[in-house]
Amino acid sequence: MGTTAYLDFNATAPVRPAAAEAMAAAIGISGNASSVHAAGREARRLIEEARRAVAALVGADPANVVFTSGGTEAAALALAPRAPGDRLLVSAVEHPCVLAGGRFAPGHVETIPVDSDGVVDLGWLERRLETAPVPAMVSVMAANNETGVLQPVAEVARLARAAGALAHCDAVQAAGRTGTDLESLGVDLLSLSAHKLGGPQGVGALIRRSRSVPIVPLWGGGGQERSLRTGTEAVPAIAGFGAAARLAAAEASDEAKIGDLRDWFERSLRTISPSAVIFASGRARLANTSCFAVPGVAAESAMIALDLEGVCVSSGSACSSGKVGRSHVLAAMGVTPDLSSGAIRMSLGWSSTRGDVERLLEAWRRLEERFAGRRRVSVVAA
Ligand code: PLP
Repeated sequence: MGTTAYLDFNATAPVRPAAAEAMAAAIGISGNASSVHAAGREARRLIEEARRAVAALVGADPANVVFTSGGTEAAALALAPRAPGDRLLVSAVEHPCVLAGGRFAPGHVETIPVDSDGVVDLGWLERRLETAPVPAMVSVMAANNETGVLQPVAEVARLARAAGALAHCDAVQAAGRTGTDLESLGVDLLSLSAHKLGGPQGVGALIRRSRSVPIVPLWGGGGQERSLRTGTEAVPAIAGFGAAARLAAAEASDEAKIGDLRDWFERSLRTISPSAVIFASGRARLANTSCFAVPGVAAESAMIALDLEGVCVSSGSACSSGKVGRSHVLAAMGVTPDLSSGAIRMSLGWSSTRGDVERLLEAWRRLEERFAGRRRVSVVAA
């Protein structure tokens, strides 16, 4: 296959060269970070350096960063009842790792509805928090992985904390792409994942606002990560995460550049396919994300055609098996099954170029011509 145009950063971002170098260097160190000898101290140094970089990305105290195996584990670590009968509120558009409710009993997880752009209904939340039994925890993501829409997290956190509930935020898609300052968000717990920032897959972090926020470990063991997540640390992965976090923080100003590229894509798409529907386009969204559907164009066929042209995007509803199912995000927004079956997501990031977007547009133009031809045939046949 020739070169590809990779436009699927919300699925995973290509690993940054600096992260790959940091990982390669860390693999060369044979020490266990718990060992007191020089090799162990070097492994420890790399972990603590990465901890500082990850903490700086969200304005946290490094002492409050707990490394995990990724965003999914960070959410599972965060979402735990503190007392029997505790209840959890999650938005209807959360990633499945939050929708699953962590260690809360399935019957104790309630869903916060969203509007037609996928933004949480703050009025509903406020009323629910005034009603017994008051939930122990509220979890609302910073940015949606499918549409990029941003949630009013600071307001959610304010309401949750006023009701005595803890606030968790899945900031996996937002961190490094838009402002994700722990203090401004006001949440108690924040989940991150390295691979959306250009770090390696299989490493993430749960960050707490202060030491007084309780974390219930998933398992016991040798006491690493202050006994909150025990097990020998994945030093190379953590070092790669640190390098990626450092670069992502330094690139915060690229948000506008990436937004210009995305907006140019959407203007061009509307010219090629005037009936295109761009989800949540009127709301504050991540600058890198565009989720759209063209009535009559099935996502599965479009993705195959784009893939054959070397263009990597996602179906708005691709599940982990790679099959296309109905998106729970678009369903919660009230999008019809017909339209959501055509949802395509393109997402940009640190290595994206205008050329990549051009490749997608050219491929889309050819695809649209083919589909338009079929539409003409079906009109004649009818
Ligand atoms: N949360 C969101 C919003 C995501 O998009 C993802 C990954 O797709 C996750 C959590 C899970 O993170 P990880 O892949 O590191 O387990």
